[in-house]
Amino acid sequence: MPDCERLATCPFFNDRMSKMPAMADLVKEHYCRQHFDQCARYRVMKALGPNLVPRDLYPSQHERVDLMLKPKG
Ligand code: SF4
Repeated sequence: MPDCERLATCPFFNDRMSKMPAMADLVKEHYCRQHFDQCARYRVMKALGPNLVPRDLYPSQHERVDLMLKPKG
């Protein structure tokens, strides 16, 4: 799989989140360079648009994304 289309602007990939995890480079290698379709940030971007991706959302926070994307009602 190619690199994620968000590499240039993504706060996680560019170390612009307030707390970067210790294993950030490995996380980037897994998600950003290989499996971006499994990234929580990417999921929100595709579902809601890039402006609605929470700034502090990590690529592995799928439970948080599931709640965000859960149909209301
Ligand atoms: S895979 Fe996720 S964390 Fe990596 S650049 Fe894309 S949206 Fe950002």
